Amino acid sequence: MSTPVNLLGLDADGLAQVCAQWGEKPFRARQLSRWIHQRGQDDFDAMTDLARGFRERLRDQACVRAPAVVSDHVSADGTRKWLLDVGAGNAIETVFIPESQRGTLCVSTQAGCAVNCLFCSTGKQGFSRNLEVAEIVGQLWWASRALGPGPAGERPVSNVVFMGMGEPLQNYEATLAALRLMLDDNAYGLSRRRVTVSTSGVVPMIDRLRHDCPVALAVSLHAPDDPLRDQLVPLNRKYPLADLMAACARYLEAAPRDFITFEYVMLDGVNDSDEHARRLLSLVRGLPCKFNLIPFNPFPHAGLRRSPDARVRRFGQVLIEAGIVTTVRRTRGDDIDAACGQLAGEVQDRTRLAQRMVRATPAAAPAAGSAARRIAIQPVGR
Ligand code: SAH
Ligand code: SF4
Repeated sequence: MSTPVNLLGLDADGLAQVCAQWGEKPFRARQLSRWIHQRGQDDFDAMTDLARGFRERLRDQACVRAPAVVSDHVSADGTRKWLLDVGAGNAIETVFIPESQRGTLCVSTQAGCAVNCLFCSTGKQGFSRNLEVAEIVGQLWWASRALGPGPAGERPVSNVVFMGMGEPLQNYEATLAALRLMLDDNAYGLSRRRVTVSTSGVVPMIDRLRHDCPVALAVSLHAPDDPLRDQLVPLNRKYPLADLMAACARYLEAAPRDFITFEYVMLDGVNDSDEHARRLLSLVRGLPCKFNLIPFNPFPHAGLRRSPDARVRRFGQVLIEAGIVTTVRRTRGDDIDAACGQLAGEVQDRTRLAQRMVRATPAAAPAAGSAARRIAIQPVGR
């Protein structure tokens, strides 16, 4: 028997093609999509408005399979983090951040990352592999299912940010198909303005995204000049700041938002002086943008320190006084290592991951004495 096709990884065109091969009408593809993505259904027998013969074929030849959940942590502030097994000792993380007006899901696109930014624990793990579409969309599928609808029946995830593990624009095709599904009214129906791709600056792919599927764009800047950025974000040697800024300007011609968000990790004594802030102002002059300052989240052996709060505020002040909207990212989910750049910190050590996978069996109890406040480590069956 041939391997079943995982429908979770097919965007509207892909699903329509598969249905056509089976002699089904195009509206069947839309029906299926709504069952899978809107109702979180993975059991074809429960899709009662599909003809019995079609359901049987689906049962034989298809499946709806998201990565298996290894653990599920809830932070004291409501942030929730899932560790997902993507095979061969690789795990990725997905984080849900509830806020009063929105629920944001932070998704991963790669196991590890090849860009290897100096301050990023994902980069330090090296690159394992690109995630498949089903593994990217599976994070939203799983979270929507696990969280359930809100009090007024609303979907729990209103915003998606591609700020988990990996560089989305170095896994372009899968990211694109995942984006299309997230925006598709028969799937998650998210607004383009509420889906943000974050990139370390893969210039040609920024151009392709603008053309193929413009969504909100965040660019991880971290330095006002090439010599410093070359060190912090090695990809800068390939795509230096002038090229990156030009790509940002082009992107705005098609973007659903009229500004680019620049992320800037605040590293004590490295990139956080008033002079750095002033040089940033010259760099971005004429480009509509906002800044999001991210206090560095330390991890073992990082060899870098977080800028003091007063320094972050002062740095932000320089930008604000020049008329640039600047926010400081609140650290959420600190107690469960769900903050930026800490994702899957524990996964770095494959042995430990393997142990956790073993622990996450029905009989297993949460590890005693763990540093993180684990409110729940539980096996999650589907
Ligand atoms: N690869 C993409 C998206 C994932 S990283 C990118 O780099 O944009 C998401 C954000 O977290 C980026 O802005 C990244 O620079 C930041 N980040 C990574 N490690 C961090 C750390 N240790 N502390 C604070 N922010 C970090
Ligand atoms: Fe990769 Fe982004 Fe981490 Fe850089 S910051 S290593 S691009 S995940």
